[in-house]
Amino acid sequence: MDAAIVRTTLQLVIPGILLIFGISFVCTWLIDRKRHYLLVLAGACVFFALAAGSQIFSLPSGAGPNAVVSGAIYTAAVITAAEGLLLRSGKTFGLYADVMIVCGFTALLAYFFYVDRNLLARVYIQSFGYGFVLLVTALRLSGLMRGRVVDRVLFWILLVFSIQFFPRTLLTIGLSAPSDRAAFANSIFWQALQLSLGVLGASLAMAILAAAVTDVIDDLRHQRDVDHLTGVFNRRGFEERIAGRLRKGGHALLLCDIDKFKSINDQYGHDVGDIVLKAVARQLELSLRTGDILGRMGGEEFAVFLPDTSAREAQECAERLRLAIQSCKFTDPDLGSVTASFGAGVLAPGETWSSFYKRIDGLLYDAKRGGRNRTVSDIRLVSSLANDTSDPPFSLQAHRA
Ligand code: GH3
Ligand code: MG
Ligand code: MG
Repeated sequence: MDAAIVRTTLQLVIPGILLIFGISFVCTWLIDRKRHYLLVLAGACVFFALAAGSQIFSLPSGAGPNAVVSGAIYTAAVITAAEGLLLRSGKTFGLYADVMIVCGFTALLAYFFYVDRNLLARVYIQSFGYGFVLLVTALRLSGLMRGRVVDRVLFWILLVFSIQFFPRTLLTIGLSAPSDRAAFANSIFWQALQLSLGVLGASLAMAILAAAVTDVIDDLRHQRDVDHLTGVFNRRGFEERIAGRLRKGGHALLLCDIDKFKSINDQYGHDVGDIVLKAVARQLELSLRTGDILGRMGGEEFAVFLPDTSAREAQECAERLRLAIQSCKFTDPDLGSVTASFGAGVLAPGETWSSFYKRIDGLLYDAKRGGRNRTVSDIRLVSSLANDTSDPPFSLQAHRA
């Protein structure tokens, strides 16, 4: 086969790979369309492929127009990739800065072709310039180092990719540019550039894709495990989080059920019932310690897992939560008092989750039978409402008393 055809085909490999990444970004975006940064990254891949195509097929023809046009598109690819990465973390350089950077690079490339023809200057402007833009991007994303493994890998690949522009350019082209275009295409600089783009560029694209897919999976997992209405874990999420901690005893479980909730729905409507559910969840959340796990087990029933907690502490905690719910104030004076009953107990060594749950549910049932708005714990310390004189009015917007 003709050597020129082989070379052209090989040159098409890197833009081809990037186009595949571009398609992958679009496919990931189709799963979760609110992640707009995926489209920006797909755009960066397209820009890169266009720039490479412009160079490989000499479009536009003529050394000057080709250098300026491909340079402008490469710059657009770099700045679009930087924006995509920044956007993923809620940051940006801003459209104005992006346009200024593309125009600035293009003007410099045009100057060093038409006014002061200098290939070396153009090589350094592009290499150091792109390295600098990506380095600033990496530094702005240094928070990724505190993130998940996939975020940390992405950060380090981006940092290495941005830094390698400087020594690679200095070591491969030094201070003298090849005499003509053909010599340039065969130069060590060009080969090293292709290699670094092929290896590090593809690794970077792979790391970005892995991070994006992880984002989408984490989001789906969150939707699967979190109750849409109240924002606390649903039964599945709750049970998954406590599953690993049930091997040894000593952890406490509280079950909380809103009293006469059906009558709130019947009297004020389902929407008001939902507001009460959200208010109760919020109140429980605010009253818990870090490490405690809260879940909505269904309907108007909540569960709280208290790690390493004694029966007495669990009982005290349930009472604190019960009073916190009772102290919720709502602006609608007709709504009356929202109260809840609690069952509280400690996991016995060797007890299974289902028998533990059933046992505490039995205590909750005892609290209901005992008159509601009370806690029954497995130390059988029963607190009733008898001494509670406060009976605050309810509003549709809950807040702490
Ligand atoms: P008790 O004091 O014995 O617990 O009585 P209750 O009325 O609270 O209990 P019951 O089980 O009879 O009624 C629970 C109601 O909760 C029935 C159901 O329609 C309502 N419910 C379940 N899920 C939701 C929800 O997401 N929103 C609203 N507004 N109501 C819900
Ligand atoms: Mg109820
Ligand atoms: Mg119930």
